[in-house]
Amino acid sequence: MILDKEQLRANLDEVIWNIEEARITVSEHHIVKLVTVAKYTEIENIATLYELGQRAFGENQVQQLKERMTALEELPLEWHMIGSLQKNKINNLIDLRPALMQSLDSLELALELNKKLLAKEQNMNCLLQINAAKEESKSGVSAAQAVDIYQEIKETCPQINLKGVMTIGAHSENTKLIQQSFETTQSIYEKLEKEGAAICSMGMSSDYELAIKCGSNLVRVGSALFK
Ligand SMILES: *Cc1c(COP(=O)(O)O)cnc(C)c1O
Repeated sequence: MILDKEQLRANLDEVIWNIEEARITVSEHHIVKLVTVAKYTEIENIATLYELGQRAFGENQVQQLKERMTALEELPLEWHMIGSLQKNKINNLIDLRPALMQSLDSLELALELNKKLLAKEQNMNCLLQINAAKEESKSGVSAAQAVDIYQEIKETCPQINLKGVMTIGAHSENTKLIQQSFETTQSIYEKLEKEGAAICSMGMSSDYELAIKCGSNLVRVGSALFK
């Protein structure tokens, strides 16, 4: 559905206001970045959000990322990859040069990505995805192994610039469980700050305020903006 500018403005204002309220409860100095997840919406809405001041957009499929980056190449947008990356799509993603690849979800993928980056003499900014709620349906490294894997990627994958961590909150009606998954990720992030981690990406439409209160400094919001 293509939304008109006033509708998108109202939705964006509401999300920004909610982010503002949540971040202030953490600290005046706690800055949160909004990445708009456009995967369910039309290209026209992305262009309108750009006119309204939004710059960072996320997609969860390499093919769709490519189509949209191409269609909107005139605009100075910042693109994030947020979905599982299949091995046969690695080269395509590298060629797109995303600002941030948020879904590096295993050491194996990191090694493969590093190899292909090296062959193309490129680097990529990435986040290590953590499966904090231990859900089988989700990808990501376990919370128990996250710090070790992060360090190992830093040591063995020089083409990858690890910038922090990403998680998807527990899929549950139970707020306590969702909060726990954010707190688990936040505590890993704090350990990794010594290693240079600066981004803790947590929170989607249904839980971004809670995620921010747990320390998130990057939220990925889709459906709340396109209603
Ligand atoms: C789809 C998606 C989002 C956004 O989800 P909404 O609930 O629509 O806000 C955020 N992060 C990831 C990894 C996603 O796949």
